[in-house]
Amino acid sequence: MSRRKQLIVQKFGGSSVANVDRIKNVAQRVLETKTKTNQLVVVVSALGDTTDELEALALQLSQNPPDREMDMLMSTGEQVSCALLAIAIKELGHDSISFTGGQVGIKTDGLYTKARIHKIDARRIRKALKEGKIVIVAGYQGIAENHDITTLGRGGSDLTAVALAKTLHADVCEIFTDVPGIYTTDPRVVKEAQKLKQITFEEMLEMASLGAQVMQARSIEVAKRFNIPIHVRSSFVKEEGTMILKRDEKLEEVSVRGITCDKSEAKITICAVPDKPGVAAYIFNEISKVGISVDTIVQNVSHTRLTDISFTVAKTDLDKAIKATEKISKKIGAGEVQHDKNVARVSIVGSGMRSHHGIAAKMFQTLAKRKINIEMITTSEISISCIIHSGNADKAAKSLHAAFELEKINQM
Ligand code: ASP
Ligand code: MG
Repeated sequence: MSRRKQLIVQKFGGSSVANVDRIKNVAQRVLETKTKTNQLVVVVSALGDTTDELEALALQLSQNPPDREMDMLMSTGEQVSCALLAIAIKELGHDSISFTGGQVGIKTDGLYTKARIHKIDARRIRKALKEGKIVIVAGYQGIAENHDITTLGRGGSDLTAVALAKTLHADVCEIFTDVPGIYTTDPRVVKEAQKLKQITFEEMLEMASLGAQVMQARSIEVAKRFNIPIHVRSSFVKEEGTMILKRDEKLEEVSVRGITCDKSEAKITICAVPDKPGVAAYIFNEISKVGISVDTIVQNVSHTRLTDISFTVAKTDLDKAIKATEKISKKIGAGEVQHDKNVARVSIVGSGMRSHHGIAAKMFQTLAKRKINIEMITTSEISISCIIHSGNADKAAKSLHAAFELEKINQM
């Protein structure tokens, strides 16, 4: 056994502290870690769905509550959970102290509801650790220069944990959640899905941006930038979860690590768009002006000076997007605006794609064999996405999982 002092940052998500029994369970687990290591900082999210409930309360009073007051309100959820956990740990006989983000010097800019951390003055944490205390920190929040409370965007407790791990030079940052780790794909859809032993930061970021919901993307970016290893694991079982690391410890990277499926988008097509310079610029500028972000865009080469342009938007933005697009279409003398809600984005992700060839062909062949029509295709350096009919999404995920032999990934 190594005798080197270890510092571990653990973060427990809302479902891990949803009620009194679960808080007791977390306290127990925290103590087990404490006996094995010297120093422990624990970040907590708000109990269960508290943050959503707080938001709903405000929306009953105003459709447009001030951001400053929202941060004041939403940050209280974590203040409750950190105090309760400190109480539970003390009850088990260990010294422990809870702090808000502001109290431990998490300094942010003044962008309420999505503040960025500027610096962390961790003196107070270090002092408490030296005194042998287990330090509990309210996640998701900081303090602006004018002393106002700010929040770090939804899911921001992950960011608190990673940022503290960086500042305190932690050996590892453990993210405790209600699933045992990161899976090759959603195990509720594909029963052969495997819990990954490891995944790289860039793969995790790509999977998160393509619909996998395990950690806040901003927190993974910070972990990647500062090379902070993250262990995603379940607070309900003891088994190890998934390590997120800079690179796979194996010599060669696997070509495909995971498959994501995102049904949150809808597709819009503008038909018969005049094919001349400035048209795409005009369309997407107008759409961004109404606050809608566009994802996949496909435009074909035209042989007739007219072309169709298709793009996807979040389903929640669809009505607004259709209205805006119809106006645009009239203005540029294009044709009909069509839309389709029944689409899904199925993506394969893997850093090894850079050095393996034939991956796209294999993906398309696999879908073709199952008679799944591909409506749009996009690629990045480490992912390939196909927009398909949403009714085929599960079938696509299953067949791609089998084709890339992801059930064997941990043996590769
Ligand atoms: N409680 C906040 C939220 O639900 C922060 C977090 O859970 O990480 O977004
Ligand atoms: Mg939460």
